[in-house]
Amino acid sequence: MMRRIDRRAFVKTVAGATALASAHVRATSADTRPVFLPTWPHGKLANERAADVILSGGSLLDAVEKGINVPENDPAVMSVGYGGLPNAEGVVELDAAIMDGTRHRAGAVCSLHNIRNAISVARQVLERTKHTTLAGEGAFRFALQTGFEPEQLLTAESLKRWQEWKANPKQESYWLKPEGGHDTIGMVATDGKGHVVSGCSTSGLEWKIPGRVGDSPLVGCGVYADDNVGAASATGNGDVMTNYCTSAFIVHNMARGAAPQDACVELIEHIAKTDPKNKEELICVIAMDTSGRVGAATMNKRNKFQFALWRNGESHLLNSVAVH
Ligand code: ASP
Repeated sequence: MMRRIDRRAFVKTVAGATALASAHVRATSADTRPVFLPTWPHGKLANERAADVILSGGSLLDAVEKGINVPENDPAVMSVGYGGLPNAEGVVELDAAIMDGTRHRAGAVCSLHNIRNAISVARQVLERTKHTTLAGEGAFRFALQTGFEPEQLLTAESLKRWQEWKANPKQESYWLKPEGGHDTIGMVATDGKGHVVSGCSTSGLEWKIPGRVGDSPLVGCGVYADDNVGAASATGNGDVMTNYCTSAFIVHNMARGAAPQDACVELIEHIAKTDPKNKEELICVIAMDTSGRVGAATMNKRNKFQFALWRNGESHLLNSVAVH
């Protein structure tokens, strides 16, 4: 059972630029310790679990997987795993991916139903198959074959929310103008020895059209990791971000010499420049290089984006830079 911590006692919100500057400085003296950087406030508890795993001898992949399992198991986090908000037909469909920077290989699942720990199924795809991505019924059957228990992922609360949406004559629909909630957990991490991993898990956009796959399980979008450079992940409107291969864009910019923070901002600026309407979108990215320097950015001030940085036994919830 996860050790619960007093969130308020832990949370230190600081101005993004200052936080990132200090994170950057602390990492430059060749960090040899693990660093974890997940999205959103629920990333703090994920960090605690990831740190426990790696400090007790687990691998970095284990740490990222088990860390992401925390919000997947928490019904209060309604954008990931058990209790995640369902699609338009009331079915919870999960997307997840995990990428290993050493092998330059990922495992991913899309539109997975009735299995809460999508990131762990993605890990099994990585470890036990020659494939990268499994979707829908095939992903579900693969999960059963590899020992996962099927269960109803709707909770009383998520069912109620879906019924309210369904009964609302003015309901927002993705056939029209999308307007959905976001959260998701993306996590980038290093073991402090030059190895990086990127993981991402989500129930996707609430009330999405059945079968819709967001950016989270797509290699190069929701995850990207390369031990020669670093790792990146993303959260926000996946229908927009998928078109920009966000995580690969960031890591490739880092490969050309950009610091993680600059690489995140460049991506956001590129998305805004291509289509100025995107300035209104929720688009949030995180990145880390192999020496543990980190970056995070969000498109605009209207959509505040927080991330949880774990380094040297300390965990801080920080505000990201808003580019517009
Ligand atoms: N990016 C996810 C998706 O579009 C949602 C999110 O990050 O909140 O499915």
